[in-house]
Amino acid sequence: MSDAFACAGDVRLKPGRDASVRRRHPWVYRGALAGPLPPGVAPVRVLAANGRPLGAALPGASGRSLALRMVAWDEEPWSAAALRGRLLEAARLRERLGLDADAYRLVHSEGDGLPGLVVDRYGATAVCQLFERAWEAYLPDVAAALAGELELANVLVRTGDAAGASPSAVLGRVPEGGVVVREGALRFEVDLVRGQKTGLFLDQRENRRRVAALARGARVLNLFSYSGGFAIAALAGGALRAVNVDSSEAALALARRCCALNGLPVRDDDFVTGDAFRVVRSLDAAGARFEIVVLDPPAFVKRASELQSGLRGYKDINLHAMRLVEPGGLLLSCSCSALVGEEQFAQALSAAAVDAGRALRVLERRSAGPDHPVSAHCPEAAHLKAWLCAVN
Ligand code: SAH
Repeated sequence: MSDAFACAGDVRLKPGRDASVRRRHPWVYRGALAGPLPPGVAPVRVLAANGRPLGAALPGASGRSLALRMVAWDEEPWSAAALRGRLLEAARLRERLGLDADAYRLVHSEGDGLPGLVVDRYGATAVCQLFERAWEAYLPDVAAALAGELELANVLVRTGDAAGASPSAVLGRVPEGGVVVREGALRFEVDLVRGQKTGLFLDQRENRRRVAALARGARVLNLFSYSGGFAIAALAGGALRAVNVDSSEAALALARRCCALNGLPVRDDDFVTGDAFRVVRSLDAAGARFEIVVLDPPAFVKRASELQSGLRGYKDINLHAMRLVEPGGLLLSCSCSALVGEEQFAQALSAAAVDAGRALRVLERRSAGPDHPVSAHCPEAAHLKAWLCAVN
């Protein structure tokens, strides 16, 4: 096939280490490799110990235990046609979902068969996030395929997770100032240049909607608010007030602008800059109570070594959040640590409720929306837990 991408060579797995790849799991760990990887970031062909072809893979950053991410299976070549096919498939899935928003995740890495590549759409601008340098070589193909299928003026790229890394344009230009996107009847200003993630926490869209539907007449506390998405949804749903807490002044300034953009009242008391771990304690001491508390902290567990300290963090912040819930009220407790499993999260919440002296019931185990598909072969890529709980 003429459009196959050139491979850097073959990589053999140790005997018996091909089973997970044959079950279509896209990750190969360094310990499974029989020999060293060729240098560089070009794709490699992956072979079982007996020489049977397993597919093609992109190399991970050297030093990390995740050595390869599979991009083609068996004899199928990793080609421009395969890449294009998967991008179009990803775009068609979002169309089929009828998301009622012009901001959504267009490509979700393993969940769209493109491991290491994330593309978020903000109206006419798509922002690519590359979790492996190997993806840089394919950016022109990615931009051409997406712009050919969707009405996109700009395709930008952000490399890695690094906060503060400005995006650059692969196609079009980097929009100056914020862009405004729509989620149902709501509008959000998104800072594509300095914002967190690619600009907006798209994974919480369906959960914002859920909170809006529950919020009539409620006093709402939005902990780790970023640009105030949950508070804005709640106010639009009829909440009496919604207090945002975040340690970032810039995030709260954006939250104020987003409130105003939706014609909602902007009261100084509703934007609290500070460490949420301290603010929950001082709110409790002051006797503040809320019918709905949303708790959406950053990932406390980014690597396995942080598991125990991270779980203590989840327990502590949930304990104090629960104390602020008016009896009979609701807590939407989130964790975006992929390394924290459902069982561990449940235990942290249980321990927090015992210490808070409250009865806790889990009403809905929610997650990211359907524009964040999770491969059935790679369930550990699911990151977001957003559990709606009743607190008595
Ligand atoms: N709930 C938000 C996303 C939250 S992201 C949404 O739906 O859009 C996590 C946020 O926590 C970031 O805005 C970050 O600035 C903030 N943050 C991180 N550590 C914090 C702390 N100790 N106290 C308060 N906010 C913190």
